[in-house]
Amino acid sequence: MQPLEDEEGVRVPAFSRPVTDAHVHVFPDPVFAALWRWFEAYGWPVRYRLRTPELLSFLFSRGVERVVALHYAHKPSMARMLNEYMAELVAREPRVIGLGTVLPGEPDAPEIIAGLRRSGLRGVKLHCHVQSFAPDSAAAFEVFAACELAQLPVVLHAGRAPRSPAYAIDSYSLCAVERVERVLRAFPKLKLCVPHFGADEAAAYLTLVERHDRLYLDSTMMLSGFFGGDYLELLERSRPDRVMYGSDFPNLPYAWDRELRAVAASDLSDERIELLTDKVASEFFELERSQG
Ligand SMILES: [Zn+2]
Repeated sequence: MQPLEDEEGVRVPAFSRPVTDAHVHVFPDPVFAALWRWFEAYGWPVRYRLRTPELLSFLFSRGVERVVALHYAHKPSMARMLNEYMAELVAREPRVIGLGTVLPGEPDAPEIIAGLRRSGLRGVKLHCHVQSFAPDSAAAFEVFAACELAQLPVVLHAGRAPRSPAYAIDSYSLCAVERVERVLRAFPKLKLCVPHFGADEAAAYLTLVERHDRLYLDSTMMLSGFFGGDYLELLERSRPDRVMYGSDFPNLPYAWDRELRAVAASDLSDERIELLTDKVASEFFELERSQG
């Protein structure tokens, strides 16, 4: 399969505020190479096979102001190496907000989390499918307790989709919106962001957001039309202060700015666009701007 050749813009659309991309992946080169092989076999062809320094300058040179950088460990004893990689990156590049990771269930998971803030990392990314855990499992609860204690927000891929025979688990039996609500009930101070609108359970997640002030969603990939569904319409009906824009760059089959252009062409008000493309992420990750 070939990546899509849809046209790409040279800059972010002219919004009234700078764009924060709350969902960008960075990995050491060999991990990226393995990930792209996986995507090629089981996901989609990756159009931008850019390594970390190039992918960041790609986005910054096109007008993205800040990126939230994510990674995840799929094997035990991998998280420390990835977190050190991220710590070095954020020390060099203040426009990157780096998150750490841990494999739920690995013996030193709480210690790893307790050290993240000292390394300059601002949250934790977890992926239920890749890391084979249920959101309400004991292993996950141990991690959430450490995150709550360290006041680190968590980005948790907890939507059921995509289902893949390449995962060690069945994501449809592992993940459910009810399980995520159990997490919110068990950890009354934990801030949680579920990417991709919670994917095929988007409607249920948008209802859950009404009930829980610490639950956020990101719109990553869902505004592109690539998976079908009218997520722009869904966004218009959703709680405006709880959904943040993210791209999933560089692991995309289509143009880097496809979703930004969809937002620019939509009926969303300037105020909604500001929330989506900057303010909600700023609130969730507690970001400050040095000037204004
Ligand atoms: Zn992602």
